[in-house]
Amino acid sequence: MTLLWTVAFFTTAIAQENRIPSKGFAVFSADGQFKPYEFTRHAVGDNDIEIRILYAGICHSDVHHVRQDWAKEQFPMVPGHEIAGRIVKVGKNVTKFKVGDLAGVGCMINSCGECEACKENREQYCSNVVYTYHSHDQFHDYEFTQGGYSNNIVLTEKFAVKIPDNAKLEKVAPLLCAGITTYSPIHAVGVKKGDKVGVAGFGGLGHMAVQYMVALGAQVTVFDITENKRADAKRLGAIRYVNVNNPEDLKGLDNTMSFIISTIPANYDPYMYIKMLKLDGQLCIVGLPATANTPSIRIDKFVWQGGRKVFGSQIGGIKETQEMLDYSVANNIYPEVEMIKADGATITDAYQKVLDGKVKFRYVIDMSTLK
Ligand code: NDP
Ligand code: ZN
Repeated sequence: MTLLWTVAFFTTAIAQENRIPSKGFAVFSADGQFKPYEFTRHAVGDNDIEIRILYAGICHSDVHHVRQDWAKEQFPMVPGHEIAGRIVKVGKNVTKFKVGDLAGVGCMINSCGECEACKENREQYCSNVVYTYHSHDQFHDYEFTQGGYSNNIVLTEKFAVKIPDNAKLEKVAPLLCAGITTYSPIHAVGVKKGDKVGVAGFGGLGHMAVQYMVALGAQVTVFDITENKRADAKRLGAIRYVNVNNPEDLKGLDNTMSFIISTIPANYDPYMYIKMLKLDGQLCIVGLPATANTPSIRIDKFVWQGGRKVFGSQIGGIKETQEMLDYSVANNIYPEVEMIKADGATITDAYQKVLDGKVKFRYVIDMSTLK
């Protein structure tokens, strides 16, 4: 008994001793003010890697979390699930990476590995998935996970993806969420050349969806709420831009589209989009408005516009994320990014600009500027 206690004490002491010091930016309440924050991450285990973070994207989901749009959150919180960096340490069983390799991390850092979802490489649907931040990591004493607005991250190698050496590194981070979240359903439904398709919400996710579907040869219509992105939609290859606040723009679109992806983060009328689907058309919902502001669809609408499907989709599995990254780099498909400094006031300001629709199209924090 005494011996067991002694062993347990030393094991815990060693685990504590090898913890990795980390620093970044956290919010300490839903007021959204980012301030410098120092904390520790669990030690680099045998199957783990430590990544020096170089770039971190700001996703609208980060904004939702900080504002507690979906649930009550735990603070201090370091958001960030669009991460690109370089490996600085590997555990002794690691085979996928070596020190010096580029690596990316998205929304997840672990899962059970045994359920149907994990076995099908769709770990995002594992009920025990560990999110990159705002999660309690069951594999590490339920420690609270902290995200990518920081100088490093430690995770099991399986949940990191390889960034090709020829990638435009400063633009890669948003692919890890905005990229995969749009790539996955677009490829699942099999969008192809000549298809008439729509992208509702032309922001971080939306402008990736446009690029992926244009690359497949589809005829893309973009829906947003302002005039100031009309030229950008054309520039990225869309055939039409619809300002949904302008009824004239909406005329003639009912029963025309085979696929629409909605990335809208606010309240809207989903039925407007269902009506635009032609027979066997599909509407994919990825946008996640605040719970208090979430639209719903009356069930009779599914019948009146029968023969169409509506489904939701969450990011993508790790295997598909690697496929998306390789495809994006090979086809020169990247987000349009505005680089910002790793500074509390700058990140706080960027959040407000995301809410005000002032970003084109993704803020990326240059973590090398962290002081
Ligand atoms: P952005 O803020 O970058 O983009 C949202 C876009 O939607 C903006 O261009 C915004 O316009 C536009 N918009 C707002 N209201 C409407 C409306 N009523 N009709 C049409 N367009 C509208 O957000 P992100 O792209 O980063 O994220 C979008 C959503 O997707 C968020 O809710 C996020 O949480 C969710 N998400 C879901 C994931 C998943 O796995 N399913 C993964 C990642 C994100 P303006 O800029 O003018 O305000
Ligand atoms: Zn995201």
